[in-house]
Amino acid sequence: MSGLITEPTDDIRRFMARDHRLFIDGLWVAPGSNRLIEVENPSTEEVIARLHSASLADLDRAVAAARGALDGPWGRMPPAARAKLMYRLAGLMEAAALDLGQLSTLENGMPLWMSMDKLAAFCPELVRYYAGWCTKVTGDTLPAVPLRGEGDDWLVYTLKQPVGVVGAIIPWNAPASMITLKAAPALAAGCTMVLKPAEMTPLLAIRFTELIEEAGFPAGVFNLVQGYGDDIGDGIARHPGIDKVAFTGSTAVGKAIVRAAADDLKRVSLELGGKSPFIVCADADLDVAAPSAAAACFFLSGQNCMAGTRLFVEESIAEEFEERLVAAAATFTLGDGFAPGTMIGPVISAKQLARVKGFIDEAESVGARRIFGGNVPGGKGHFVEPTVFADVTPDMRLAREEVFGPVLAVQRFSQDNERELLARVNGTTYGLSGSVWTRDIGRALRLAKHVDSGQVGVNAHAAVSPETPFGGNKQSGWGREFGREGLDAYLKTKAVSVNLGPHLGG
Ligand code: NAD
Repeated sequence: MSGLITEPTDDIRRFMARDHRLFIDGLWVAPGSNRLIEVENPSTEEVIARLHSASLADLDRAVAAARGALDGPWGRMPPAARAKLMYRLAGLMEAAALDLGQLSTLENGMPLWMSMDKLAAFCPELVRYYAGWCTKVTGDTLPAVPLRGEGDDWLVYTLKQPVGVVGAIIPWNAPASMITLKAAPALAAGCTMVLKPAEMTPLLAIRFTELIEEAGFPAGVFNLVQGYGDDIGDGIARHPGIDKVAFTGSTAVGKAIVRAAADDLKRVSLELGGKSPFIVCADADLDVAAPSAAAACFFLSGQNCMAGTRLFVEESIAEEFEERLVAAAATFTLGDGFAPGTMIGPVISAKQLARVKGFIDEAESVGARRIFGGNVPGGKGHFVEPTVFADVTPDMRLAREEVFGPVLAVQRFSQDNERELLARVNGTTYGLSGSVWTRDIGRALRLAKHVDSGQVGVNAHAAVSPETPFGGNKQSGWGREFGREGLDAYLKTKAVSVNLGPHLGG
């Protein structure tokens, strides 16, 4: 369907021009702050929507509404009824894929085929996956006998209960996935939510919230507050009425959230930055590995936490592989997400473009060899060509810091020194994702075991699925999303020890 649309539909233009509101306690209400949020289309630099931030008083009301729902109809709702609402939401998301996809492309810049794919398939599937869990959250019965309780009979069991009110703070790089990934497990666990989207991408969240309303979730279960990080984001992290902060974003802000949340020791889960390795051994299927390496880095214009931005290639095939990389990079057509044939869009902002260009210029000045791209085309939009650097050394900033742009750093390794390779692979403060490309099963599994990341692909990169836990080691985060572990992050365990009295016949 995305191929048929080459410009925003009239419906979406009307949507963007609307008076945008917050959603609190089941009602669309005017924001209480005068602080303006201007939403820019990064492909055209046009301001496509204007809205106002929530005030801290709005945030208080949203938190109170979330607490009320938890203590009220939502808390009492049978799990099967919760699941039914979630299945309905998934269907509505599919039906609204055109709206949601266009909004993603307009506010984030990603190609329409990509935003539509996610919304027609991945995000609703994720909601369905977690909907299935609603009726399967169980505790255990334990063969336990408390200390000095041997004379009595006992029933000891655990209850899994919702953590409570969740404050979700998300980034701009994949609005639909980020919202779904927070809302689906939280709702399945029986939590309620106050969501703050990134100030650059507030629009998709509004349409998503309309679907929550249409699906029939009780008032207060899901609340939308717009705002910046330094007011509403920080307000969520500090709010005493919030039980858990679920955050995705940069490592620096993750640390600020942990500090702010420390006052009342609320729970915090963090999905942060990455600098993931892509390891190509000489015996890999290069026809697959080379285009996959380009895609692993350039997907979402490199604004993707799990991007494979550090490529390690075995010395004996390095020259050939670099040539193949250049050929693969050349297929990543830059453009407006609505233009047919666009493979990657712009980066999110002028500031982000300057940051990416800074990395490119610095890498060149310290001796990395630019073998593809690196230019900023003239004209409107925050575009930067997909870029490949060879001869990158571990001390260069490009080899250590997250660029969050389409810049691939290639290093070489020698076949007989896996220990040295792994020292370089693991020599960053990050540990989010990674992949190993080889036909040698022993080598693949050995390297996969020792790459210090939350997930590693073998002959695949960023193989994300609803069932598979995803998250970071080291400064890439705390906790896991997706799968059973993603649900557990929204549950707390209560142990109940029941003294049944003296043993029968005792
Ligand atoms: P960011 O950290 O600047 O912003 C993320 C969110 O945090 C935004 O909503 C922002 O308003 C809010 N925020 C900013 N300052 C805050 C504060 N002091 N207190 C509370 N909230 C605050 O990140 P970004 O630039 O929007 O996104 C890019 C980063 O996100 C990259 O580092 C990327 O790797 C990371 N990311 C990680 C994952 C993952 O799953 N690990 C996924 C996507 C993006």
